[in-house]
Amino acid sequence: MVKVTELFGSMVFNEQVMRERLPKEVFKALQCTIKTGSYLPSDVADVVASAMKDWAIEKGATHYTHWFQPMTGITAEKHDSFITPDDGGSVIMKFSGKELIKGEPDASSFPSGGLRSTFEARGYTAWDPTSYAFVKGTVLYIPTAFISYSGQVLDKKTPLLRSMDSVSKAAVRVLKLFGKNPTSVLPSVGPEQEYFLIPIELYKKRPDLIITGRTLFGAKPPKGQELDDHYFGKIKSKVLEYMEDLDAELWKLGIHAKTRHNEVAPAQHELAPIYSTVNIATDHNQLTMAVMRELAVKHGLVCLLHEKPFAGVNGSGKHNNWSLTTSDGENLLDPGKDLKNNLQFMLFLTAVIKAVDEHQDLLRLSVATAGNDHRLGANEAPPAIISMFLGDEITDLFETISSGKEYKNRVGAKLSTGVESVPVIYEDTTDRNRTSPFAFTGNKFEFRSLGSSLNIACPNIMINAAVADALNAYADKLEKAKDFKKAALDLIKKEYIAHKRIVFNGDNYADAWKAEAARRGLLNLKGTPEALSYYDTKENVELFEKLKIYTAEEVKARKDILLENYCKIINIEALTMCEIAVKQILPAAARFTTELADNIAKLTALGVDARAQREVLDISAALIGDAYEAEQRLSDAQLAIKNETDSQSAANFCHDTVFSAMQELRTYCDRLETLVAKDLWPFPSYGDLLLYV
Ligand code: ADP
Ligand code: MG
Repeated sequence: MVKVTELFGSMVFNEQVMRERLPKEVFKALQCTIKTGSYLPSDVADVVASAMKDWAIEKGATHYTHWFQPMTGITAEKHDSFITPDDGGSVIMKFSGKELIKGEPDASSFPSGGLRSTFEARGYTAWDPTSYAFVKGTVLYIPTAFISYSGQVLDKKTPLLRSMDSVSKAAVRVLKLFGKNPTSVLPSVGPEQEYFLIPIELYKKRPDLIITGRTLFGAKPPKGQELDDHYFGKIKSKVLEYMEDLDAELWKLGIHAKTRHNEVAPAQHELAPIYSTVNIATDHNQLTMAVMRELAVKHGLVCLLHEKPFAGVNGSGKHNNWSLTTSDGENLLDPGKDLKNNLQFMLFLTAVIKAVDEHQDLLRLSVATAGNDHRLGANEAPPAIISMFLGDEITDLFETISSGKEYKNRVGAKLSTGVESVPVIYEDTTDRNRTSPFAFTGNKFEFRSLGSSLNIACPNIMINAAVADALNAYADKLEKAKDFKKAALDLIKKEYIAHKRIVFNGDNYADAWKAEAARRGLLNLKGTPEALSYYDTKENVELFEKLKIYTAEEVKARKDILLENYCKIINIEALTMCEIAVKQILPAAARFTTELADNIAKLTALGVDARAQREVLDISAALIGDAYEAEQRLSDAQLAIKNETDSQSAANFCHDTVFSAMQELRTYCDRLETLVAKDLWPFPSYGDLLLYV
């Protein structure tokens, strides 16, 4: 077996490879570009490109691609081979600096939200040297940003890089006041990724899964997650083989896959990497999802990344663990040992509290998708109301100092296991709260509202922007202060009092919280269309313009793309439901009732009691009628989407009318599934899909 240390990063053109393969001067110039974003001269780029190509060919590459993240949220790639014709009909393998730095894919078919008309379809991809190139299969992947001919952003990476820059500059300003001078402060993220694995032969029999990624029909199985026997349970051998293979593939690509375990729902699992700078974490998470899908097929499985593949059991999320670290390696969210004297920690934490309170709408809309609508507020994921958990100790600290009293550091209480041989462990001073959308977990915040398939760029753009805004406001104030320490402490007190309504340490799933949150004036943006309607409010446009993350047109474009995407998903789901109901479920149910009718006729002729069959027949026949009518209503609603005149009203209509018609049709069909003979039902049941991997 190959050693993990040798395997790790073996397919990545990383710093070590660059050091080995590039002339010293070129290596230095490239490192400078990577670390400071400085311009890379074209002759240097040529040398880098040539070395990269030679290395990639040794790793089996024949092609290269500019890999980017358009507004579809998934990654895009177009492969170009290295071949160039040579004399005498032969070819040589070539790759220039120009080809490395800039690409010009035809951009007309990527969503732009009206930023680019099809007749000027030009878009550019620009190399992002801060994220390493890698070889996967026979292709050299070069991470890039994607922008239009006129310089408007068309992707998720460019604004993410801009937001990182904003929060870095703002944090450096504040740190200067503490006498510190780091060159940068970067947000780090560790995204925990949940997923389902189901057998591929069963998947192929479910058109709903194939077309929409989730089951649109399906009665509850006799056993779901009620026994709590799957979470952290023993991993079945078929799944473990997959996980081992997955880890190895990810390690080769330089991804620090760290934790793997079974999740709450049957057939549900999780993978967590070690955290890294957020643009790398974003690239790696996109890559992880792609590798998860590809590898599953090799194992006779399908990896489902949809937020809610199955009704009645938990869906999948992605916890976004976020922190800020200086270029000197200091985690600004680490309270250290002496909490009450850590003014710097308190100030940064207060900035996050302000950020979350003032920009609840941005955080909420950054996780709004049709798929995630099934999870938020369904007692399996945080509610749509954004609030934050600080834990008893930190809350106590802020409550005490804001009321002008002296705070005493708590010492973690001893937790005894009661078993002699097990050492006594100290209670973590910040306990976990699994129901909070935005929880402080000791030295980082865990944003828990993300859906499993989401590109993590958007939520992190919002966190970075919101925190940058708060830190800039604090720097503006404190830079003018005569007595910095006193001014900072006063600011912390005032700001905590002003924003403490966002702090909630209780059960976010409880109904009482909804009422309490409303009383506190917190937003409760229930569905995707409502959440997205806040994207381009005056305050938000001003914020993005001020921080140079988006222009007003770019914000509007993003909002439109997301609203349209929501409508398209609901439209596809509605059409798929109608087709499955009419062509598969109703015919199966009709056959079943015919069988029953034949049976009743025959039994009655023989004088045998057929009351039970008669009852089932009556109920089934009635359900067929109900389902048929519901299908008609859904079909009518789907056709009426086009009558809406703009993307917001179309999305609202999809949410309020089409989606409820879908739910209604599903109810009748699922009841039919509980009656119709299994051999007549047209596709595998939830039990088949979830319990037999
Ligand atoms: P959980 O109990 O929620 O599973 P873990 O401690 O296992 O939490 O961490 C989950 C994720 O948080 C991992 O990806 C881990 O690398 C990441 N993480 C840990 N520390 C930090 C940090 N300081 N900043 C960002 N992410 C972090
Ligand atoms: Mg977690």
